[in-house]
Amino acid sequence: MKLLRYGPAGQEKPGVLDAQGRVRDLSGHITDLAGSALLPEALARLGQLNIDSLPLVPGTPQQGLRLGPCVGAVGKFICIGLNYSDHAAESGMAVPPEPVVFNKWTSAICGPDDDVQIPRGSVKTDWEVELGVVIGQGGRYIAEADAMRHVAGYCVVNDVSEREFQIERSGTWDKGKGCDTFGPLGPWLVTPDEVPDPQHLSLWLEVDGQRKQDGSTATMVYPVAFLISYLSRFMSLQSGDVISTGTPPGVGMGHKPPVYLRAGQTMRLGVQGLGVQTQRVVQA
Ligand code: ZN
Repeated sequence: MKLLRYGPAGQEKPGVLDAQGRVRDLSGHITDLAGSALLPEALARLGQLNIDSLPLVPGTPQQGLRLGPCVGAVGKFICIGLNYSDHAAESGMAVPPEPVVFNKWTSAICGPDDDVQIPRGSVKTDWEVELGVVIGQGGRYIAEADAMRHVAGYCVVNDVSEREFQIERSGTWDKGKGCDTFGPLGPWLVTPDEVPDPQHLSLWLEVDGQRKQDGSTATMVYPVAFLISYLSRFMSLQSGDVISTGTPPGVGMGHKPPVYLRAGQTMRLGVQGLGVQTQRVVQA
């Protein structure tokens, strides 16, 4: 299933994409695509529905129907840094002996095609296409062998980053990672039955039609199952938590000389099988 949330920001309703690419309303079955609606038994119930019998939502994302972030009420938005060896190299940093973990504030979360705002005072706003993992069944001390049973689905994430705030302003990376609109999620939450191997997905990003990133999750240093197990040693993972698993090479900071986003530009990015995001860049 390609699950989604549609409607105005803050008032999204749950939906699902049908075989023709139209949006069907799920609000007769769940109140939101969030929390307990992401548990395995709840997703199995949705999987039994005849999608073509669900109410058709007028309009399409191509015709202006807004898609919201594909998960609601996210409790934790956890990110992994330097998880592709070639991206670590372009950043001038070593592949870390254990995963680098940082956070994005949940107020950064926005819809997949919402405008991305360059924060005031920013001169180094950058892009990062990533595979997002959404937790279904929560847990603590999850064994790597059991980890994939905790996945509700996958989505595209743009880990938008302000490099000066991140690296040159003292302290952790978080100041440059959690600004408002720095976390587009979606368009869809794709259930694992449609993603047989999350470690063989191509992912790419373009700025104004120019290809900047072109990678594969096959070159991740720490794969999804390991990351779930690893993170669950430090925190309990809960339904609706989002893990963004790192970015392949081609970020603006890695260009020689570096290039950063300007208001008026457009980002397009996608992960194989998980859909495409399109964001206009604006000044906050
Ligand atoms: Zn990232």
